[in-house]
Amino acid sequence: MAKDYYDILGVNKQSSKDEIKSAYKQLAKKYHPDINKDPAAEERLKEITQAYSVLSDDQKRQQYDQFGPDAQNYSGAQGFSGQGFSFDFSDIFSTFEDDFFSGFGSSRRSRREQWQNLDIKTRVDLDFMSAAKGTKKSLNITKETICDHCSGSGSKSGKKSVCPSCNGRGSTVSRKQTPFGIFAVQQTCSKCEGTGKIVTDSCKKCSGKGFVKQTININVDIPAGINHGDYIRLREQGNERSDQKGDLFILVTVSNHEFFKRNGTDLYCEIPITYGDLILGTKIDIKGIQDTINLKIPSETIPGTIFNVKGKGLPDPNKRGVHGSLFVKVILAMPDNINKEYKDLLSKLNDVDNKSTKKKMQNKLKDYVAY
Ligand SMILES: [Zn+2]
Ligand SMILES: [Zn+2]
Repeated sequence: MAKDYYDILGVNKQSSKDEIKSAYKQLAKKYHPDINKDPAAEERLKEITQAYSVLSDDQKRQQYDQFGPDAQNYSGAQGFSGQGFSFDFSDIFSTFEDDFFSGFGSSRRSRREQWQNLDIKTRVDLDFMSAAKGTKKSLNITKETICDHCSGSGSKSGKKSVCPSCNGRGSTVSRKQTPFGIFAVQQTCSKCEGTGKIVTDSCKKCSGKGFVKQTININVDIPAGINHGDYIRLREQGNERSDQKGDLFILVTVSNHEFFKRNGTDLYCEIPITYGDLILGTKIDIKGIQDTINLKIPSETIPGTIFNVKGKGLPDPNKRGVHGSLFVKVILAMPDNINKEYKDLLSKLNDVDNKSTKKKMQNKLKDYVAY
């Protein structure tokens, strides 16, 4: 059973929106990877953010209250089913980053921005079956890699000097004249970008930056069952600096299929069956995602009946061995060639129906219908 979102945020069903927001802010601060170096913190923050994204939205919260934590794929609840949940710190904190970072001063903020800028986003477009079965994709990524000439230091000699602009402090103070008097404003040093050190003998290859832009080719394993809108996150495959590496986020788009439709890991299809086969029963073969499925249509099947073929849907990319269902709706196939012979046969059949079926219906619906 999935964890309860109210428990995750330490609130209850009666909590107001403001209480939920405040609980989320407290927890988000506690577990933000800038502050909390525990490797489990990021997972925890993900969980907290997921809970908040649902409980802060009136519609999603209502659905959640109704269906509980195990319900998946609610309408419009993106990133909710846990499939490749996209995790973007900039999105999470954009709403209240001002008060979040107020306690850390400007150098803290600039370091965070620097770290975020190392992430790369790209996109991969898949056809329906490749996404369903899983595939490998070769992608060209343009990224900043550590300069091999200077090992990322940016300096020919490998040495750095104290920044003369800020004397190594990383920040500068300027004075601003306002109607209320003169204020001292602290700013990140633009010359050394807050590091306090600068390169005086620049590496020729990277012009002192420590990194070079390069297009590289990578092979990405696309897990079977990945859905439209999911992200694949490749850790440390983003832009590189000597002390850190960003992540690569690959947004997946999946095209529609002419026969199958999907909802999460479940597949849906509609199959026309002739009147005779519906009455007498038949067997059909459906070419599924993994294999061919033999489906028995029992005699006297009503058009519109939906068969749930368990385990023949899509694999769950996050849970090994777990598959959704294939839902098959049988509909009545209209005859293709209605000639005289067909009509003659049918009117014989109709004579039988008129005596029994129609009579029965007439009795049942006599107040409303005359056949
Ligand atoms: Zn270099
Ligand atoms: Zn400086």
